Amino acid sequence: MRLSRYFLPVLKETPSEAQIVSHRYMLRAGMIKQSSAGIYSWLPLGFKVLRKLENIVHEEQVRAGHVPMLMPTLQSADLWRESGRYDDYGEEMLRITDRHGRDMLYGPTNEEMITDVFRSNVSSYKDLPLTLYHIQWKFRDEVRPRFGVMRGREFLMKDGYTFDLTKDDALHAYNRHLVSYLRTYERMGLQAIPMRADGGPIGGDYTHEFLVLAETGESEVFYDSAVTDLKFGDRDIDFDDKAQCQGILEEFTSKYARTDETHDEALFNAVPEERRRTARGIEVGQIFYFGTKYSEAMGATVQGPDGKPVPVEMGSHGIGVSRLLGAIIEASHDDKGIIWPEGVTPFHVGIVNLKQGDEEADAACEAIEKSIEALGLEPLYDDRKERAGGKFATMDLIGLPWRITVGPRGLKNGVVELTSRRTGESEELSPEAAVQKIA
Ligand code: ATP
Ligand code: MG
Ligand code: MG
Ligand code: MG
Repeated sequence: MRLSRYFLPVLKETPSEAQIVSHRYMLRAGMIKQSSAGIYSWLPLGFKVLRKLENIVHEEQVRAGHVPMLMPTLQSADLWRESGRYDDYGEEMLRITDRHGRDMLYGPTNEEMITDVFRSNVSSYKDLPLTLYHIQWKFRDEVRPRFGVMRGREFLMKDGYTFDLTKDDALHAYNRHLVSYLRTYERMGLQAIPMRADGGPIGGDYTHEFLVLAETGESEVFYDSAVTDLKFGDRDIDFDDKAQCQGILEEFTSKYARTDETHDEALFNAVPEERRRTARGIEVGQIFYFGTKYSEAMGATVQGPDGKPVPVEMGSHGIGVSRLLGAIIEASHDDKGIIWPEGVTPFHVGIVNLKQGDEEADAACEAIEKSIEALGLEPLYDDRKERAGGKFATMDLIGLPWRITVGPRGLKNGVVELTSRRTGESEELSPEAAVQKIA
């Protein structure tokens, strides 16, 4: 991509409304534009990262055996009356009336709708287990939308729903989600720690929130520092293997890690003092087993092996896809801008031409651009007639992992400069060697 043809409306000034660094950088880097409180347009750079995150989520869901689909954003109130949540949900639900006077709502979540899809189409235990998921915009009329996309009103969520015959199978589905989420966040360059969460009115131990540690997080968290040493890494997972998934759940959840909602001082004090940590965290996902709450209320039963109807065991599992952009930036930036992890970066490398219009420099940049593309990577070539300082500042702000700087002086010696955004280290290399290093 040539910057001269792209749409990257970088702001020089720090927007005064942004209180936290991720919000500031997303606005300054021209990634989002607020359209009204908690509602944003995703400008090309922001949209590109959002799509990358979405792709990672899709790939990891499919790897775990889950089936993608898409449900609408607008829902009929009737389904929510069946489950009893139409009245319970309160003011976070955006209620709409259509021209015929029918009550509609912009979905804040999809348990009712998916249960309706299920009961209309599945009648035998032989069709289980089943996990359906979608990645769709949600609307929650948050009292205090803030921090940019972190607490939006319209936001993108992956929500998946599990259907099983027995509690044992449903808990395996729960474990499978935990395992696949660990992989998902690690691919995004994030450490998201599963912490025991509050089961709410349904209760039970089977819910975990995934938290990214960050000072600006809205949750207070308490944990044993040993949890931060756990790495998922590149493991071979058989998602049908109950024992393997259960083992990973135990590995990642047996050390103390809770949010303030479930914090237990006595248990926390049993952790050796030097490992006790109190911090703040950003909730980037939650998994939940809730049994037959919706299936009983909405009549989602299957015929069991003995021919008798059984209400299906369910769980729901969410990832805050748009919130993740903010969380990644909170976890990875410096005072010059964003530092994208390789797995989610909008472009892999920025090419800075120090003397646009110089025949040799232009030709060298174009050749580098082509050879990066040939590797299947995406370069962003700053081909504008701008001062070098401004070009560097833009590259630092948008945070691509690598920058290749090309100028007539270096080219006379056959070299360009390769700079790592994360370490700030530069080295002079031939153009070919620089490209090789990125590959
Ligand atoms: P929170 O506690 O932050 O209000 P939640 O517990 O209400 O979130 P869930 O119902 O668990 O949210 O939804 C699944 C995921 O969707 C959350 O873990 C979070 O990452 C994301 N999410 C929830 N609300 C918002 C929001 N207003 N803006 C952006 N992402 C959100
Ligand atoms: Mg909420
Ligand atoms: Mg929450
Ligand atoms: Mg939650």
